[in-house]
Amino acid sequence: MSEKYDVIVIGAGPAGYVCAIRAAQLGLKVACIERMTDKAGQGVNGGTCLNVGCIPSKALLDSSYKYWEATHSLKKHGITLQDAGIDVPTMIGRKDAIIKQLTQGIAGLFKVNGVTSLFGSGRLLADRKVEYTSHDGEVTVFDADNVVIACGSQSIDIPVAPLDGEMIVNSTGALELQSVPARLGVIGAGVIGLELGSVWKRLGSEVVLLEAMEDFLPVMDQQIAKEAHKILNKQGLDIRLGCRVTASELKGSGENRQVEVTYLTQDGKETKEVFDKLVVCVGRRPFTTNLLAPDCGVELDERGFIFVDDHCATNAPGIWAVGDVVRGPMLAHKASEEGVMVAERIAGHKTQVNYDIIPNVIYVHPEIAAVGQTEEQLKQSGEPYKTGIFPFAASGRALAADEAEGMVKMLVHADTDRILGCHIVGPSAADLVQQVAIAMEFGSTAEDLALMVFGHPTLSEAVHEAALAANGHAIHIPNKRKR
Ligand code: FAD
Ligand code: AMP
Repeated sequence: MSEKYDVIVIGAGPAGYVCAIRAAQLGLKVACIERMTDKAGQGVNGGTCLNVGCIPSKALLDSSYKYWEATHSLKKHGITLQDAGIDVPTMIGRKDAIIKQLTQGIAGLFKVNGVTSLFGSGRLLADRKVEYTSHDGEVTVFDADNVVIACGSQSIDIPVAPLDGEMIVNSTGALELQSVPARLGVIGAGVIGLELGSVWKRLGSEVVLLEAMEDFLPVMDQQIAKEAHKILNKQGLDIRLGCRVTASELKGSGENRQVEVTYLTQDGKETKEVFDKLVVCVGRRPFTTNLLAPDCGVELDERGFIFVDDHCATNAPGIWAVGDVVRGPMLAHKASEEGVMVAERIAGHKTQVNYDIIPNVIYVHPEIAAVGQTEEQLKQSGEPYKTGIFPFAASGRALAADEAEGMVKMLVHADTDRILGCHIVGPSAADLVQQVAIAMEFGSTAEDLALMVFGHPTLSEAVHEAALAANGHAIHIPNKRKR
């Protein structure tokens, strides 16, 4: 008889590995199955986030930003450098070393917490059974009281730009380029396209982003999106909105290979551009290939996500699903909080995820970050609101750091003064927005933040001033709203 577990988790990305660790901490007998392998063909935990997503993209964003500073902004600080150069393989190697450190860290955490780590593929059968196929092809069927599906997502491919792994790549390929392309085309100016476009732009590529939508970042607060668009354009990112790619063709041979892209502009004009590499970043979809036996009882929704309730329970008893494979934003921190919630619910707790307060960040420079509702959403719902805006141009610390572009925008309930949302484009926006997320989680009003003491000089003072501005008593800018 094969072994029985309290919990089997399928997928060891941030949703799955966090769920497995938390369940083991709660005294449950846990196994976690992961099919991904590293460049050397060895099983590896961490999922998209650690291997080909959040962490590698941030490693390259940070490296490329250092180069950009060295070549663009240090001079005005009185620092001159000679011979600033780029060694792309070293940059990629540094990124790989970080991935290795973190993924090995998860292996270590599994060990100390007593999680059984199984490399290979998991498939959900009926009656809470899981078929495990090791990378050697050996098949074992396990019984479990609970199964957690955490299989994540994969890049969407589009037939008009089929990947060839060399000239036309997806986000994973764009994290592996071994030299700086002279001209880089990016299809999709969403979060991933903007981040990867920024990496290669900073390293010297001429980057053109072709985006089908007419609005820039349509789900973000539009005032912040417009400000960000202006800043990114100024940096030389060529973002062409309302441009739908309809075809691509490989041209030339050997060293002279290029990709010709055809796209339709807003007014229906067919236009062509030639690139040295093309990156397809048109979104991600849930990954459920070979996962569900026909009689396993788990249903998908109309968009192919595993259907779950607010607590990530599927419609099959004892089967849960978390992370990118279920509804909601495809974000690592949303995934991991769902992992924790499910582990704790299996152990009998009543844990919930507050889906209203999930920060969202685009790691371009300066960062774009948001939490809560946008002004457009508030207008649509008819909720009465007031706005507090503070530009970083009025922040002493931002000026000192030569980081004075952008603003903090706080949206506050007009009657109750409760903070409803915060949207930032500016230095350290990701960390600043988290401060507001904490305040929102505790039901804070703008006045609560206004009455708090913020250290000086800090970028956080811009959050303080935006909260003050919402009620017409900002100190370091003229107030639009009078008290
Ligand atoms: P995944 O991380 O995709 O993990 C799922 C795992 O399940 C995979 O390892 C897969 O191999 C495994 N699996 C699938 N099927 C099976 C099976 N049948 N058997 C065994 N194993 C299986 N999010 C952020 O919050 N911040 C960021 O800065 C950010 N940057 C990103 C940058 C890029 C380039 C990309 C692509 C994504 C980024 N994301 C970011 C999104 C983030 O990576 C995902 O939201 C997150 O990884 C989702 O976690 P998950 O555990 O649900 O899925
Ligand atoms: P995201 O979902 O944030 O990763 O963004 C993906 C973006 O790709 C979306 O804004 C889509 O509008 C865009 N997109 C999808 N298909 C095409 C296409 N054929 N041409 C240009 N942009 C596209």
